[in-house]
Amino acid sequence: MKSVSKEVLLLTQELLRFNTINPPGQEKACADFLADRLEGSGFEVEAYEFSPGRPNLIARLRGSGDELPLCYAMHMDTVPLGDSQWTRDPFSGEFDGDRLYGRGASDMKGGIAACVVSAIEMAKYPNRKADILLVITAGEETGCEGAAYVASLNGVLGDAGGLIIAEPTSNRLFAGHKGVLWLELKTRGLAAHGSMPAEGKNAIYPAAGAVLKLRGVDLGYPPHPVLGTATLNVGTIAGGTKINMVPDQAVIHVDIRTVPGRTSDETISHLKNILGPGVEMNTLLDFDAVATDPDNEWIQEVSAVLSNYSGETAPPKGLPYFTDAALLTPAFNSAPTIILGPGEPELAHKTDEFCLVPRLSEAVEIYTEISRRWCKVSDL
Ligand SMILES: [Zn+2]
Repeated sequence: MKSVSKEVLLLTQELLRFNTINPPGQEKACADFLADRLEGSGFEVEAYEFSPGRPNLIARLRGSGDELPLCYAMHMDTVPLGDSQWTRDPFSGEFDGDRLYGRGASDMKGGIAACVVSAIEMAKYPNRKADILLVITAGEETGCEGAAYVASLNGVLGDAGGLIIAEPTSNRLFAGHKGVLWLELKTRGLAAHGSMPAEGKNAIYPAAGAVLKLRGVDLGYPPHPVLGTATLNVGTIAGGTKINMVPDQAVIHVDIRTVPGRTSDETISHLKNILGPGVEMNTLLDFDAVATDPDNEWIQEVSAVLSNYSGETAPPKGLPYFTDAALLTPAFNSAPTIILGPGEPELAHKTDEFCLVPRLSEAVEIYTEISRRWCKVSDL
């Protein structure tokens, strides 16, 4: 096995042994381990905690500064194990054939390992024309809290001319992702004894009416060539306290995945018009879509690098779910953004999550070639 392949496999295993399930996250031990590794390889590393024990790392490999930095972003936290029994140990880094098992193997400790091994490879090249910047976040799985924090700190991220998010894509290229608009709808009524409904006002009936109006509603977004169409899902509904009471409140959570071409304010007033004045509306989360023009020169170059691996020649599409790019791309002045990582997207968040070992070393090679071109270095 080539030394890089071995290194990325071993590093993924080491990362899997840190339990970073979020909640609660507990990313600190994992972050300290990565900080040591990167500092030992010539990176400047700073940690920024968004809450106690929850650090984000910003690691920088200095170049000459002739070109803007190239940023790789990744998150350390994982989702919980779920209710089903795992047949593999989620924290030991066990492998079987090509499969490396563990919580976060695909989403996205394999991605972290590939970025880190590739960045350490880059440290061997002299005369790099640009910095390589690694943004290693905490708290991504619960709404990009860590990325939001570092993006809010003045001057911490600095500039970047391109952003790569190492989320699982089986090493395929995606040129952005949809935005998200989470809304909480509330209807109010008047409590009364369930045997005397005429004495109260039932909050569940108007909530049910609202849900039916949302089913199949036209959100009015124009279809987007890369991201497709906006979607809406009613995620939860809750109302009433007891079977023998007239419910005085009902709450509905609505998950809208947006595309460019319409603002969230326009969508909210559109929905208010449809639902009428009896439905209160609060915004819980609102991130714009990230869409890079597939004709962008750098995207074309990354496609050319990838064509040596996957043979994929179709223009890149976008992803339906959001990533830390929702915060980082605006912080980098809308730098061209791609999502490209070694994990298997269909295994993210699943029981017996695994990643494929050959994809890890392939990702190291792909990242290194992208960085080499960005930093304008010649062969070693
Ligand atoms: Zn992820």
